Amino acid sequence: MSNFERDDALSTRTNSLAGRIALVTGAGSGIGRANAVVLAERGAAVIVNDFDAKSAADTVAQIVAAGGSALPCVADVSDSAAVAAAIEAATRELGDVDILVNNAGIASRREAFLEVDDARLDRMFAVHVKGTWYCTRAVLPGMQRKGRGKIINTSSILGLSGRRRSSHYAGAKAALIGLTKAWAREFAEWNIQVNAVAPGRVRTPILGAFAESEDYLRDLKANVPAGRRAEPEEIGYLVAFLASGEADYLTGQIISPNGGEVI
Ligand code: NAP
Repeated sequence: MSNFERDDALSTRTNSLAGRIALVTGAGSGIGRANAVVLAERGAAVIVNDFDAKSAADTVAQIVAAGGSALPCVADVSDSAAVAAAIEAATRELGDVDILVNNAGIASRREAFLEVDDARLDRMFAVHVKGTWYCTRAVLPGMQRKGRGKIINTSSILGLSGRRRSSHYAGAKAALIGLTKAWAREFAEWNIQVNAVAPGRVRTPILGAFAESEDYLRDLKANVPAGRRAEPEEIGYLVAFLASGEADYLTGQIISPNGGEVI
C-alpha cells in the first residue's frame, strides 16, 4: 500500500454512533445534558445518570422527543454500591456500555486553602475522582467483553493551570488527568481509548448568579481571547468526536476547549 492509499478499515470510520450504548454521568444539566443530547443525535442509546431523578427524566424526555433512545439511571456517582447497582440495572436493559462520559461534578466556591474544611475537601474528591473511578469500574468488564470502548473524563482548565482559592477543585480535576493517562496505557490492550476534556468557561448553571456578576464578566473579557463562554453543545461536539471511530488513534490526551484562555 502506498502512503496515499487508505487502509480499508479507515474508510469505514465514521462519526456515527449508531448501535453504541453511552453512559453520561451528571447528565441532568449543563454539559452532561448537552453531551447526552449530542451523543443521541449521532445515534447512541444513552443511559442518563444524575443525582436528581427529575433532571435525569427531563434529559431523557428531551432525547426521546427528538426521536432518540435514552434511559434514566439515578444515583450519586460517589456512592460506590448505589452507582454500580444503577448502572447494572440500566445495562441489563440496554446492553454493555461502549462509551462512558464521566462528567458529574460540583462547583468550587472560591475558598483560600486554609478555609477548605475536611467535608468540602472530601466531597470534591469523592464526586470528581472517586465517582469517575466507580463508574469506570462498573463499565470496564463490559467493554473488555466487547473488545472496544471509549472513556471520556471531564477535567477543567483549572486542572491544567490551577487557580488561586480553588485548590481543592484544581487538585481533583488534575487527578482526573492522571487517571486518564494511566487508564489509556492500562486499557489499550482491550481497544479502549481514554481521553479527557478540560473545558474553560461554559455557560451552565454550575456557577449560579456569580457568572452574571460584573466581576466575573470583567475577568472573562480580560482573560478569554474568544470573549465569551462556550455553549454546552460545544463540549458535546468534542465529546461525540472522541466517542467516535474517527478518534480511534487518540488516547491519553487532554483536549481543552477554552476559547484561548489556556494555550
Ligand atoms: P451542572 O450544570 O451543575 O451539571 C452537573 C450535573 O452533575 C448536575 O445535574 C448535578 O446534579 C450532577 N451531579 C453533581 N454531583 C453528582 C453526583 N454525585 N452524582 C451524580 N450526579 C451529580 O455543571 P456543568 O457546568 O455542566 O459541569 C459538568 C462538568 O464539567 C463538571 O465536572 C464540571 O466540573 C466540569 N466543568 C465545568 C465548567 C463550566 O464552566 N461549566 C468548566 C470546566 C469543567 P445536581 O444539580 O442535582 O447537583
